[in-house]
Amino acid sequence: MISIEKQNFEQLKAIIRVDFNVPLGANNQVLDSSRIEGAKPTIMKVLNDGGSCILMSHLGRPKKKDKALSFKHIVPEIEKTLNLKVKFVEDAIGDKTKEAAKALRPREVLLLENLRFYPEEIKGDKEFARKLASYADCYINDAFGTAHRAHASTTTIAAFFKKKKFSGLLLYNEVNAIKNVLQKGEKPILAILGGAKISSKITIIENIMDKVDEIIIGGGMAFTFIKALGGSIGDSIVEGDKLNIALSIMEKAKKKRVKIYLPVDSLCSDQFSNTGKKKLFETNKIPKKWQGLDSGPKSIEIFNKAIMSAKTILWNGPVGVFELESFSKGTIAIGNSVAKSTTRGAFSLVGGGDSAAAVRKFNLQNKMSYVSTGGGAMLESLEGKILPGIEALSN
Ligand code: AMP
Repeated sequence: MISIEKQNFEQLKAIIRVDFNVPLGANNQVLDSSRIEGAKPTIMKVLNDGGSCILMSHLGRPKKKDKALSFKHIVPEIEKTLNLKVKFVEDAIGDKTKEAAKALRPREVLLLENLRFYPEEIKGDKEFARKLASYADCYINDAFGTAHRAHASTTTIAAFFKKKKFSGLLLYNEVNAIKNVLQKGEKPILAILGGAKISSKITIIENIMDKVDEIIIGGGMAFTFIKALGGSIGDSIVEGDKLNIALSIMEKAKKKRVKIYLPVDSLCSDQFSNTGKKKLFETNKIPKKWQGLDSGPKSIEIFNKAIMSAKTILWNGPVGVFELESFSKGTIAIGNSVAKSTTRGAFSLVGGGDSAAAVRKFNLQNKMSYVSTGGGAMLESLEGKILPGIEALSN
């Protein structure tokens, strides 16, 4: 995979797959423009070289043309975020698009219509990809968040560019951050896994077991382990059909000498809300009618020690119900520890959905080495899968 960094785009038209799938409000207003911001370095690199950009993305999940999800509504926000003029065609393929692409001058930007208006996009249709490819001299993929999808604009199109296909800066940084942990990570390497369920993390645990030295298992998923080990977990969240898997993970970890940390105490409540009664219990002695919703102070102290001595940290999933203020302390403490360890020289990667959201909520994103932008794509990378969008750039 070749990054755009050392390429020169002078006089070249680059078709760039960006991720402008931004959250929209009731009046089509953009609620969060960080995805547009994320593509800015790549777009500016091409323009500053004297090239031009043809931007394409999906927005929402329309099955066919849907006026509400036209990029037309968000052109002003894109122009504001990128601080430049953007031309827009209400089509992604066809004569209008062909003309607009042909007329594009160096340092100009053209945005195509929502790719999901065309069913060919998610089918990975070759003819659709060929048409998109015909508008440009080279192809750049900067949409890490959709790199796990084999769609026309993320995968099929790359075949039309032989050596003229590159990874954008955002995509390159994401892939590098994962490599920095799983391939080149300095030891001790620590993974912090949390979240509601073990079922969504089994493949990740199995994949990282050969690469990490220690794993903290926190959040809701810890209770399946505690129960499997014979503990009483009261009404805490549990996956009864995964007890054997939890045990076999513990077994494997022992064989591979991977140290597993489980919570030893939990802040519990009689309700899944901020307003119920609260009480601390040892995690394996939670009485009936009580559920563990956050890591307790002793657990946090143990987790903190491991975090402070780690040289490489991967964090995926909150260690408590951080959305409820009363049960957010554990996740905040983990966030602060990871931030502190990072300032002392550890490399920290936060990613895969809710832990990234938690880090942003508690305003710690600038204190981590890297916060991933891709939920599903990051999870599949951690599972050891080769993402089709990335593979297509490498062939
Ligand atoms: P995931 O998407 O698998 O990373 O799960 C994230 C969700 O796990 C968040 O919404 C948390 O509220 C939830 N979670 C974390 N700890 C617990 C817990 N002890 N009980 C129930 N849910 C939890």
